[in-house]
Amino acid sequence: MLRVAEHFAHTDTGRQRRGNEDSFFARSPLFAVADGMGGAQAGEIASRVAIDVLQDGLPDGAGSPEERLAGLVGEANAHVFELSRSGREYAGMGTTLTAAYLGEEELAIAHVGDSRLYLLRDGSFERLTRDHSLVEELVQRGEITAEEADQHPQRSIITRALGQERGIEVDRASWRARAGDVYLICSDGLTSMVTSEARVGELIAAGPDLREAGHRLIEAANDAGGRDNITVILFRLEEVGAPGPRTDQDTATDLAAVGSAQATAVHEVPVADGSGRPGARAATPPSRRRRRARNAAKILFVLGLLGLPVLGGGYIASQSVYFLGVDDQGLLTLYQGMPYDGPASLSLYSVNYTSGVPAATLPAPVRQVVVDHKLRSRRDASDLVTRIERGELEGQDG
Ligand code: MN
Repeated sequence: MLRVAEHFAHTDTGRQRRGNEDSFFARSPLFAVADGMGGAQAGEIASRVAIDVLQDGLPDGAGSPEERLAGLVGEANAHVFELSRSGREYAGMGTTLTAAYLGEEELAIAHVGDSRLYLLRDGSFERLTRDHSLVEELVQRGEITAEEADQHPQRSIITRALGQERGIEVDRASWRARAGDVYLICSDGLTSMVTSEARVGELIAAGPDLREAGHRLIEAANDAGGRDNITVILFRLEEVGAPGPRTDQDTATDLAAVGSAQATAVHEVPVADGSGRPGARAATPPSRRRRRARNAAKILFVLGLLGLPVLGGGYIASQSVYFLGVDDQGLLTLYQGMPYDGPASLSLYSVNYTSGVPAATLPAPVRQVVVDHKLRSRRDASDLVTRIERGELEGQDG
């Protein structure tokens, strides 16, 4: 049976923000990070409301830990959604939520948004969640590479968040855990600043304990600019009964860290004992990409229509982006919005400008730029159209 040997949890405002919209929960065996979004204080409230739902831990009852954890995330969604409808100051609020619960042999994972869960095992560092973000959708569709996603101007647009609709699709999985595993749950304030995942893994592996590693991660994000709130949870597993090396002090008194601006590195006690069932399920959710893309489009459409700012640092408003394409007549066209078809054949884009240039007459590399549907700022996109119209573009500039 596994237990959490040591954990660290801390949130930092970063260097640019005045407030901290992240919240976290770290009381073994349950850990979670929420990254709130919304105007004024709404983001802070949204993430706190979501985390509050976890206060009593995983409820007893029917279903696997994974199912019950996903149920809690659904409950958190309902709370945030209700609140968002209760007053103008809360309208458009939302939050990510990435939660992990250690059972006897498995880590149950439930996740919505672009906070992330990683695993450091035997020196290799791996991400176990998939972002619900625009750039991740584009990566999955093969339209951009993971490296391009890291630098993409729209990388902070998320496609799924708690509080947007009455129901929510929660990604969930059960991960076969092992003694020695170190898990990281973090908000995008870490990963958008330290974009090399390998680097993040190295910083954790450098030791000597999770407390130092955690502070090192936060420092690295701040050194890189600290443009967003940074939340880091680290926890390491051990086998119960195995006298592992204990590097941290026994003097830690904080058994739980909930909320913001607290840090703990404490020993844990066994949660329960049980029969070691195999549970060798390394489940990832079935691919429902198409449905997801539709949901994503729907959320983006609704929010874009309302013009609601959602993500700290970015906007989940589809109308703030542009892309190049070809219209029915085969003419080079500048579109405003997202290159998705919404539900019920609603388009998420509209024609902003139609040039007189037939796409078929363009040299192949330039035509590639026209059909890649890459998202651009208004200025970038219209500059590009102008250059194509003037025949200044030879390709490779996209
Ligand atoms: Mn953030």
